[in-house]
Amino acid sequence: MCAFHQARVPIPEVNGARREPGFEETLLPYSEQAAVLEAERCLQCAMPYCAQSCPLTQDCRRVVDLMAHRRFAEAARQVLRHNPLSSVVCKTCYHYCEEDCPKGEKGEPIAIRHLERTALEFVEPDLTYVPRPPNGDRVAVVGAGPSGLMAAWDLALRGYSVDLYDGEADPGGLLNSIPRFRLPQDELEKDLRRFRGLDIHFDGGKHAGSDITPEGLLDQGYAAVFVAVGSSRVRVLSIPGVDLPGVYYAVPFLTAMNRAPGGSLAYSMAFSAAQKGPPRSDPFGRRGRRVVVIGGGDAALDAARTARRLSFAGGVTVVYRRKERDMPSSPEVKKDAEREGIAFLFQRAPVEIVGNGRVEGLVVWPTNAASPNGRGRLAPSPRSLVATTLPCDTIIIAIGAEPDASAGIPGPQTGVSRNRRTGAARYRFMTLTDGVFASGGSSVVHAMRAGAEAAESIDAYVAQKRGRGPTPRPDPFGDPFPPGVPEGYLEPTWHL
Ligand SMILES: Cc1cc2nc3c(=O)[nH]c(=O)nc-3n(C[C@H](O)[C@H](O)[C@H](O)COP(=O)(O)OP(=O)(O)OC[C@H]3O[C@@H](n4cnc5c(N)ncnc54)[C@H](O)[C@@H]3O)c2cc1C
Repeated sequence: MCAFHQARVPIPEVNGARREPGFEETLLPYSEQAAVLEAERCLQCAMPYCAQSCPLTQDCRRVVDLMAHRRFAEAARQVLRHNPLSSVVCKTCYHYCEEDCPKGEKGEPIAIRHLERTALEFVEPDLTYVPRPPNGDRVAVVGAGPSGLMAAWDLALRGYSVDLYDGEADPGGLLNSIPRFRLPQDELEKDLRRFRGLDIHFDGGKHAGSDITPEGLLDQGYAAVFVAVGSSRVRVLSIPGVDLPGVYYAVPFLTAMNRAPGGSLAYSMAFSAAQKGPPRSDPFGRRGRRVVVIGGGDAALDAARTARRLSFAGGVTVVYRRKERDMPSSPEVKKDAEREGIAFLFQRAPVEIVGNGRVEGLVVWPTNAASPNGRGRLAPSPRSLVATTLPCDTIIIAIGAEPDASAGIPGPQTGVSRNRRTGAARYRFMTLTDGVFASGGSSVVHAMRAGAEAAESIDAYVAQKRGRGPTPRPDPFGDPFPPGVPEGYLEPTWHL
């Protein structure tokens, strides 16, 4: 191990520190030499803090060790053993594994997420998952986001036949709204290609509530139904003027950008060209020049960064009602947004959108971040009637999302089947309807973890009905020994 190299090997970026925003991916993989140098910094702790803080219990320590020894193909295979959406996760995960890395105490933690990404990109593993022999049971999964995909993978590995339904034509859920400069288009496809050996059938365009219901699926002979519909309905902002042309919601805006024919770059060029001439129409209404984004999460910052790339000459400002330190966005995304020239206005609450037939400004009030709202977060209240109008012609609202209530299905954890005597939940994530399970998560890996736990619970439920024992998740590549927790692992430090 190289004792001298203690600083993190810098992660290469497009255009280096002088970030000229474009739609190409902003981070680049390490070179082979850089990857080995970074991996050599790892202390190979006796207690695997990295694995304990990973919701997927990935053996990061082992991956990094394999990288340090230039065993890249084995490293990639090790990543894929615990994480079937690795190509996506290596670009979007908030790298919880790095939070408890002892190297971070006096410097920067090992760049675990980036090393894993590099391993996958070096060897481009064209592996196929291997299921156990069919057990004769069918399970329906409704919702093909990270949670539903993980559950489908986990169940199919155990020998179930899985039908995966989704209201949209394509799988991926909210992953389809993450901009291409953070998550390039083909990453999910790469991951799903490895599913080809599994008995999973995707059926898009099936909306729960109108086309299918969990109870109806049980009647069709499915042994269990897993509902993983996430939070796909945007939370509406109820202020005057919100219906004016020029007001958009972040997730539909971002998804439309990702689905734009010819790709986002074509749009960017069209917008840039349009800026030189008189205003003209675009798919989102008239081209905006000054953009205000309302919200403080990743969707808000992704929308702001996308708007910036569309060459809105007047600039992009994010308005957030709490203090900077309360922003729920990931610090990494926030730093990138600042470097790309996004402006921030904190402790301002939107109260009205003004305009004459089209958005002309957002009226905001200053807020006191004072009274706790009972949920552990500060609830801002308008401090005074000193209103300011921010001139703008485009407003993008990103104030959160909620489950699709029209689906008529139990949302995550609306009910848990309990043992009448002890009150303990019999099957984790089972709703009040016997055989129907529901869950999801607030990040990609948390959603995947919820899907994995639901799959385990569904397997226990079906196994008991059939009078057989539950099936532990087998090794996904057919090795005789399934991967357990890494040596020295004590207890998880993450929470669902
Ligand atoms: C812009 C943006 C950026 C993000 N960036 C990150 C990031 O960098 N890192 C990170 O970890 N997380 C990020 N997240 C959060 C992450 O995407 C979610 O936590 C994760 O996708 C949740 O997974 P899920 O499977 O629970 O739900 P979803 O991804 O929402 O998937 C639910 C699926 O159910 C389907 N569905 C919904 N209702 C119905 C119905 N009635 N009938 C049939 N199907 C239905 C939907 O079409 C969807 O495919 C981001 C989110 C957004 C919006």
